[in-house]
Amino acid sequence: CGIVGYVGHRPALDVVLGGLRRMEYRGYDSAGVAVLDGAGALTVERKAGRLANLETRLDEVGRERFGGTAGMGHTRWATHGAPIDRNSHPHRDASQRVAVVHNGIIENFAALRAELEADGVEMASDTDTETAAHLVARAYTEGDTKGDLTASVAAVCRRLEGAFTLVVTHADHPDTIVAARRSSPLVVGVGDGEHFVASDVAAFIEHTREAVELGQDQLVVITREGYDVLDFHGDAAQAKPFTVDWDL
Ligand code: GLU
Repeated sequence: CGIVGYVGHRPALDVVLGGLRRMEYRGYDSAGVAVLDGAGALTVERKAGRLANLETRLDEVGRERFGGTAGMGHTRWATHGAPIDRNSHPHRDASQRVAVVHNGIIENFAALRAELEADGVEMASDTDTETAAHLVARAYTEGDTKGDLTASVAAVCRRLEGAFTLVVTHADHPDTIVAARRSSPLVVGVGDGEHFVASDVAAFIEHTREAVELGQDQLVVITREGYDVLDFHGDAAQAKPFTVDWDL
């Protein structure tokens, strides 16, 4: 399983697929990508099986549909829901404006799912992860987090129990990716006019060796220009910069 997110100047699909390939050694049963095209479209494709299956699917639908320099990718090790296409990540809310990838387990997903269903939300998968997509979408459209993606993700993280590395994109924010972690790894890759988030530095070391390791219950917002580390209450937090010194 692995996660990679990218905002920069290169074609995001290539960066993300390259990152997923470098994390294949960790094992997985499904894979998926989301690309933000900068003009308000969020395009998602996912497929059970090897990365090669996803690549074949991308060729079928046309890779030109995934033009854009921001995006994210996921390889899944199923814990909740069979390893089939519709349980593969990214997961989206009903409006398909929000996409989420996740490694780990959301322990309280059944209660969250019941709450969402009571609210009229229809689930499109059997995963624990999908609840996070709906919750972020809901936080983004109502209450005091309305219109604030970072605050929405932080508010949702405060409600999640269990272990997660979570990466969130929103079609309204094509130049931003928000990622968060609890009891599951998350590192930032710092480049020149580009930033990465990943569960493993292997995902980005061919592009940069400057990295930042997030601490427990921290969240990071990456753009082309920089990154901000916050805690789940939205306060600035300190994370640990380091240089990756191992050979490729
Ligand atoms: N619990 C999530 C799922 O089953 C994520 C699994 C993973 O870590 O890849 O979809």
